[in-house]
Amino acid sequence: MKRIKRVVSVAFVVMLAFVLAACGGNAGGSASSSAAGADASAGTSAAQSSELGGKPWTTTVVAGNLPASRPEAKDDMYTHYAYDYITAHQEGAGGNALEDHNSEFRDAVTAVIEDNSKTGHDLEQLRILYSQAGDAKKLEELGLSEVKPYLDRIDAVKSLDEMNALLSASDFPFSPFITAVVKTNDTRATNMVGLYPNFLYSNAILTGGAPYQDTEDPTAQQAAQASLSAAVLYTGFDLEALGMDNASIADANAQLMEFEKQHGKSLESNGTYVKKDFGEMAKDARAFVFTLDELCALCPSFPMRETLANMKKDKSEKYLVSRPWLEAFGKTWNAENLDSIKLMAKAKVLAETRCYRGEPVSKESAEMLAQISAASSSNAYKACDSINTFAQVLAKTYVDESLPASAKERLTNLSQQLINTYKDLVGNTSWLGDESKQRIIEKLDHMALNVLEPTGGYFDYSGLELKPTDQGGTPLANYLTCKQYRYDCEAKMIGQPASVSAGWFYVEPTIANAFYDYEGNSINIMPGIVTSLLYTDGMPDEKLLSGIGFTVGHEISHGFDYQGAQMDAYGQPNPVFTDEDVSKFVDKTTKLAQYYSGIELMPGMMADGQNIVAEANADLCGMHAALEIAGKSENFDYNEFFNNMSNVFVQVVPAQTFPILAMDTHPLNNLRINVNAQMFDPIYDKLGVKEGDVMYLAPDKRIVVWGPKA
Ligand SMILES: [Zn+2]
Repeated sequence: MKRIKRVVSVAFVVMLAFVLAACGGNAGGSASSSAAGADASAGTSAAQSSELGGKPWTTTVVAGNLPASRPEAKDDMYTHYAYDYITAHQEGAGGNALEDHNSEFRDAVTAVIEDNSKTGHDLEQLRILYSQAGDAKKLEELGLSEVKPYLDRIDAVKSLDEMNALLSASDFPFSPFITAVVKTNDTRATNMVGLYPNFLYSNAILTGGAPYQDTEDPTAQQAAQASLSAAVLYTGFDLEALGMDNASIADANAQLMEFEKQHGKSLESNGTYVKKDFGEMAKDARAFVFTLDELCALCPSFPMRETLANMKKDKSEKYLVSRPWLEAFGKTWNAENLDSIKLMAKAKVLAETRCYRGEPVSKESAEMLAQISAASSSNAYKACDSINTFAQVLAKTYVDESLPASAKERLTNLSQQLINTYKDLVGNTSWLGDESKQRIIEKLDHMALNVLEPTGGYFDYSGLELKPTDQGGTPLANYLTCKQYRYDCEAKMIGQPASVSAGWFYVEPTIANAFYDYEGNSINIMPGIVTSLLYTDGMPDEKLLSGIGFTVGHEISHGFDYQGAQMDAYGQPNPVFTDEDVSKFVDKTTKLAQYYSGIELMPGMMADGQNIVAEANADLCGMHAALEIAGKSENFDYNEFFNNMSNVFVQVVPAQTFPILAMDTHPLNNLRINVNAQMFDPIYDKLGVKEGDVMYLAPDKRIVVWGPKA
């Protein structure tokens, strides 16, 4: 089955900048992360064309678009080094080295869970849910029996008032329309509550409203279609459990998507701010702060106060929410939409409880599901890998039991070394005025490092008590206990001094990703990304710098790019660039965007430089910082550096999901290596790239943002 990579544009109010095209997440109990095969028929098929697509480099991230023999490094560095991996992943789901390696994480923690000689309260609690969700026979027996009473209550609703009463009831443990998490808007504030839509088809925290935007652009349409199709498939299984036939499932999906779109399209994506005026993002960060009364007034017919009370989040002094989204949502909450509201509530309850109930499906669907689960993690694992259950315990277990003890210290030192490198580069940038320099350096000095764990530690699970099966415990009841426990942990955080690690409490730290958090001014390295691909004891500098070094370097630079520079060292809306310097910075990045826009991805499809400029700049700076450190090391092997980098960031996607990548705010992975390698001396001085080679770029065309050569 195919795995769909999600579009990464991040919903504005989240403000986390990930290094990679998004991994799925299960934040807030929204739609399941790992996506199943889809029937997206649209897409660019290289096979239809006799020539391979992509200029000056063949777009080898698309399956079926690979030269018959390995190109030379001087012409296409990425494909040269990653050729074997790309060749081996031409069929089916394609591949992504970082995500492939995430299985090391899963295997390691699974081994700990299944090793009963390992004891401890958290692990023992986790094992209760793990064994219950892994007991396929018991789940089948249970079927929908535990969920049915909730579905029946939704079915019994006859009016909007009754719906509101149901959502307000303290014994209705679901919030099918609102996701609420603890976050802050700067490090000098206190923790407050951030509100998001609880979408069915799209993860509001990771993908924002991108799939719902109206667009004339055929690639954007294909991307939305492809990213939604996997979610549609899962919802189909859920609706089948309600006894619907294929025709009514298709109708229901269409109805639900139409309903979700009514407010989904009002949720902007992070990429939007690249195109807005400097300062706009910081302004919105302040403008979108409300009291509970104000929040309720923005969507008056919805039982907001009661919904938040059920999530133990009605005591926050302030709430962060995208106003256009909340207003649009408020407008959908009317009697006319009651049918869609009820159907959505049922679909959301079914989606949230997927791992914790049986699913009586047809033979055909059962086979499809079996195929999907063979390709991803087990139900038992998935049940525990949720922010509502044990994702934090899985992450902590991996760090404690499976990573070398040196990992945290060495990765922290490397991050600090990269920060110091940026301080040097910024300090020696002649186009930048002293005032801006000072503010950027202050920001770098205050950058918090959350390496393998959040500052202050993970949630304390010592008070969690689940019921084992022999005491009458069931997976669903235990899931709901876990969720309430999460709410209790979050309630304790609200009103406390701002956390610089808020993202760790609503994005699973098990994901293979890292991010910069604008509000917390923090670098976050999630345990899920620290596999042997990026870190082993004694890993040579060439590998360390080209993998995790490039990654962290990329993230740090987000702190003072067009978006990050709108906030100061404390996440407050004070620009770190003077007006004069911001326009010089934009000149640099515009040049970079224009350079990308001249690259052809497929016949007739050019890269969209403006869409990817923020991430392209972060890549450029990340590689620069890593190479600066490399330059100080004796006998540094640059072949190995670029070889490893290509093999860490190698990715192959099936043709039908290519539009998702093409619309992503990150450049294609082959370009992330080749374009940036072109900008720096080592490929010319050390690897012998010369004029006439495809990798060659004339010195006056090379773009560097920071440092004496900028
Ligand atoms: Zn980034």
